[in-house]
Amino acid sequence: MTMPNFSYVRPKSLKEALQQLSSKGARIHAGGTDLLGCLHDDVFQVKKVVSLSHLDELRGVRQTKDGGLRIGALTPLVEVVNSEPIKEHYPALAQAASEVASPQLRNQGTLGGNICQKPRCWYYRGEFHCLRKGGSKCFAENGENHYHCIFGSGHVCYIVHPSDTAPALMAHEASVRIAGPKGTKLVPLEAFYVLPSSNVEKETTLEPNEILTEILLPPPPKSGLRSGYRKVRARNSWDFALAGVAFALQFKADRIEKARVVLSGAAPIPWRSKPVEDALVAKRLNAGTVERASEAVVKNAEPLEHNGYKIPLFRGLLEEELTRIATTFGT
Ligand SMILES: Cc1cc2nc3c(=O)[nH]c(=O)nc-3n(C[C@H](O)[C@H](O)[C@H](O)COP(=O)(O)OP(=O)(O)OC[C@H]3O[C@@H](n4cnc5c(N)ncnc54)[C@H](O)[C@@H]3O)c2cc1C
Repeated sequence: MTMPNFSYVRPKSLKEALQQLSSKGARIHAGGTDLLGCLHDDVFQVKKVVSLSHLDELRGVRQTKDGGLRIGALTPLVEVVNSEPIKEHYPALAQAASEVASPQLRNQGTLGGNICQKPRCWYYRGEFHCLRKGGSKCFAENGENHYHCIFGSGHVCYIVHPSDTAPALMAHEASVRIAGPKGTKLVPLEAFYVLPSSNVEKETTLEPNEILTEILLPPPPKSGLRSGYRKVRARNSWDFALAGVAFALQFKADRIEKARVVLSGAAPIPWRSKPVEDALVAKRLNAGTVERASEAVVKNAEPLEHNGYKIPLFRGLLEEELTRIATTFGT
């Protein structure tokens, strides 16, 4: 494939960027690490690329009035990895960002781009006119589905959501601010992603004329939070998650008061595992709890012909991570 022709604009304000986006076939360019691959591989057509690179107000990490954090959508991933408040209060996010791709991609790629990136299904990215590209068939369902989902397909489309940071942000109850022609709105990250059964051609609720401007994290608890992100990949180099888990467990005395557990590599969206959360809440994190939670993670899973290995993989991942927390902090 060769790169298609498109016009390229670099607005100097958010208002101008929104105006530029209002024309049909316009697309946002943040770091470009995903967008340019999509254009090169003809995943979708673009008439105009709208670069956000001059919008300095969309960069940086700062504390909000309520004691939470605001991360500008254009903040490079490397800054998320190295930010002291993120490492201290939202460790799952710092760990997840450090697991994204390679140092070069973390320098160039932005947090906003990471959570808005397109899926990596090889049929979608390849020369297949699949359902997600407006075709009539999902080729993964009965095809080469080794890296596809075990939850949430709705028997429609079997992509896995590709971002490492989104599950961590969801575990930490993040919201995103979205600017559009009619003003701004705040959307909980959990409501931002779209399942194939709702709309197979969209991954998020973002409209083509909207810009994700910032990611907001609520104030962290004063004490008792255990949070992290663990990712398993096919090789010991940069790669997307075969299976991953982001967790934020809030302990009160020796019991888990609140649990948010979000899986990567599992579903078309970052997949909040309610069965695991239910197995953890109000419990001591002892061997019995670890065993029940590790079993619960694969409850209702629907593996395909070639990805049944994800069942023991997720079980083992949960067991290892929860045992590690129990050994360090549990009872
Ligand atoms: C070789 C390789 C390996 C990778 N491995 C991993 C990995 O292991 N884990 C992982 O999580 N990711 C991985 N990635 C994906 C990479 O992290 C993303 O490409 C990157 O984070 C995207 O950020 P960007 O700023 O470059 O986005 P862009 O490429 O500029 O944009 C990505 C998409 O989001 C849209 N977009 C961007 N910013 C906004 C915004 N502010 N508002 C609305 N829409 C927006 C764009 O229009 C585009 O569709 C990998 C990528 C490559 C090329």
